[in-house]
Amino acid sequence: MIVAMQEQATEEQIDFVIDAMVDAGVGVHRTTGASQTILAGVGPTASLDLSKFELLPGVLRVHRISSPYKLAGRSFRPEGTVVEFAHGVKVGSERVVVMAGPCSIEDREQIFETAARVKAAGGSFLRGGAFKPRSSPYAFQGLGIPGLEMMRDAADAHGLLVLSEVMEISQIEPMLPFVDCFQVGARNMQNFNLLRELGQVRKPVLLKRGIAATIEELLLSSEYILSGGNYDVILCERGIRTYETATRNTMDISAIPVVKKLSHLPIVADPSHGTGRRDMIAPMARAAVAAGADAVLVEVHPNADKAASDAAQTLYLDQFDKLMGELRIIATAVGRTL
Ligand code: PEP
Ligand code: MN
Repeated sequence: MIVAMQEQATEEQIDFVIDAMVDAGVGVHRTTGASQTILAGVGPTASLDLSKFELLPGVLRVHRISSPYKLAGRSFRPEGTVVEFAHGVKVGSERVVVMAGPCSIEDREQIFETAARVKAAGGSFLRGGAFKPRSSPYAFQGLGIPGLEMMRDAADAHGLLVLSEVMEISQIEPMLPFVDCFQVGARNMQNFNLLRELGQVRKPVLLKRGIAATIEELLLSSEYILSGGNYDVILCERGIRTYETATRNTMDISAIPVVKKLSHLPIVADPSHGTGRRDMIAPMARAAVAAGADAVLVEVHPNADKAASDAAQTLYLDQFDKLMGELRIIATAVGRTL
């Protein structure tokens, strides 16, 4: 940590701050310039609430220079994490992985038709919600476990993996036989009890960025899972809420290289939730692959306009085919495969 004192700070104030830092277990290195004193603190600053130093008399500003997350930080695994699944699928490797399927599982016909087309186009994961976090309690809430049974059958029939959202701790156990990867939705990114419990599970977790979460908060949330011993965590940029209303969310493409720099965890881009608009999905998916995303997650449906949830941001299967061709070209252009 770095504490910059005000120009007019007195010797007494500086000593008081040094004492407070030492009391907190931090070693202090003092530099006195012509007009200002800087105190550099080394020690267990990750667990400290630095704002309390900012309030001490004579302090101008306090900066954190080491990251507050230990296990999610790039230095923990400089070579990067590769999350491995059945069928030889690896997320975080040279090959960009595609995860596609409806927002919600609706019936057997829908999920089987989608699975066939996702596989034929080169996708690896079938996505679909059985437990849905809907803004309105009157909207379709999902089929629950019977929906997951259908999706597992459809995925197995086509050699695909299953990704589905878990909303609460009690759903983890019953979902285990049906999913290859748990999704934690944006609304649950800071459901710390759920995250801790998923840290105990030995199955990968895809953690979505919260609607108004900073990248640091996303990484701190991943730390809850990692610190339980589950190292198979995949992060997901799915758009954040800003003042812009032209799109449902603002797809933060820059989060992809930022996460790559700060963390060793793979990052997935979800341009469906990121934009909320069918016509914006392909451009943002292309941009995400160009920016270094390890996987792309998109909502697709045989009858997209009639989807039970998120219809406006769901691709028709033909549009998905076209997008896959485009993503393949971009992946190659940035030294990857798809
Ligand atoms: C979803 O994937 O359908 C979903 C609800 O996503 P998010 O949590 O990003 O809104
Ligand atoms: Mn959705």
